[in-house]
Amino acid sequence: MFASLPSPSPDPLWAQALAYRADPRPGRLDLVVGVYRDEAGATPVMRAVAEAERRLAHRAPSKEYVGLSGCPAFAEAVERLVLAGAGEGRRTTVQTVAGTGALHVLAGLVARTRPGARVLVGTPTYVNHVPVLRAAGLEVAAFPHLDAGPAGRGRASVQAVLDAVAGARPGDVLLLHGCCHNPTGTDLDAEGWVAITEAVLAAGVVPFVDLAYYGLGRGLDEDLAGTRHLAARVPEALIAVSGSKAFGLYNERVGAAIVLSEPGHAGAVRGTLEALARAEYSQPPHHGAAIVTEVLGDPALLADWRTELDAMRSRIDSLRAGFLDALDPRLAGLPQWQALRAHRGMFSTLPLGPEAMSHLSREHAVYGTPGGRVNLAGLTAAQVGRLAEAVNGVVLG
Ligand code: PMP
Repeated sequence: MFASLPSPSPDPLWAQALAYRADPRPGRLDLVVGVYRDEAGATPVMRAVAEAERRLAHRAPSKEYVGLSGCPAFAEAVERLVLAGAGEGRRTTVQTVAGTGALHVLAGLVARTRPGARVLVGTPTYVNHVPVLRAAGLEVAAFPHLDAGPAGRGRASVQAVLDAVAGARPGDVLLLHGCCHNPTGTDLDAEGWVAITEAVLAAGVVPFVDLAYYGLGRGLDEDLAGTRHLAARVPEALIAVSGSKAFGLYNERVGAAIVLSEPGHAGAVRGTLEALARAEYSQPPHHGAAIVTEVLGDPALLADWRTELDAMRSRIDSLRAGFLDALDPRLAGLPQWQALRAHRGMFSTLPLGPEAMSHLSREHAVYGTPGGRVNLAGLTAAQVGRLAEAVNGVVLG
């Protein structure tokens, strides 16, 4: 049966992660995989999450099936968190198998409702976006979305997005990162969101927002403001929410798919999302969603979660600033490096090509992705100088 099965080419990201693990050098740095690490180099269980788990264990609920849409209280809590009042009365939310599952069922929904739709995707983008969209049978129309000016890949170009929307057909879909762009670290500002919102409205394009890093950019409400603005203005939108990063629940697979629709369409939307889920995994896992519901539903836990998330965010900011401060002034003064100061969230894409990235890992045991992405949240304060020294060495020799 498998004699003619071709081996897929290895995922370049995991290939780097494996190379890091195999590297015996003591000071090696893993900046490949997108997880937050604390000063001890550990990915912590957040305080509010640990407390919610304790409570859930004492409550010992049944393990009975919950339903195809997952836990309704979770869906409501996520809607409130992400959208506040935006789109109220027009929202359909189902619990999904993490952010990836949300992207997947939403792509499936687009394919069922509009088989010929194209998805406009600004590239570079999250490594799994295009595979998920294609797996659903959608056509991907890629366009470069970074500034062509001296800041190079360091700055997002709103104009590039507006141009892509201007060339779209009504009913096409525009994929957007809600905040903290992966892999570039660029972030749309408020005017950018307003301009893109008006453009999609005028063109009849449906926005599809991927929200994975809320709370880790400028602040929780600031990171969600663009999505909320959009949701309040447009008649239809798709929003994929991941609980992995903001709650540190990576391996619990917590997420939600939110659909904004016009009156009378919600039943068909929910029914289709449930049919898609049923054919694949039937029901999402419950534990992570129960934790998130507990955290968001209890004022004390919610406040503590926000405080800890904010501390994570400001720690990432200081790691980025520390790295840039430690760069050789001959580099730090260049626009392509200065652009990194405006980056937000775990990632920045360094203005380095694949050869320089390979040099970084070969000679300095510093592992990012071949595309130049580094997870700054994978550093400790003590390692910031080492990263800067390695970059100085690679670029200046
Ligand atoms: N979207 C983006 C932009 C991501 O970076 C990721 C994870 N790296 C996801 C979605 C999916 O996250 P998960 O399935 O782990 O929730």
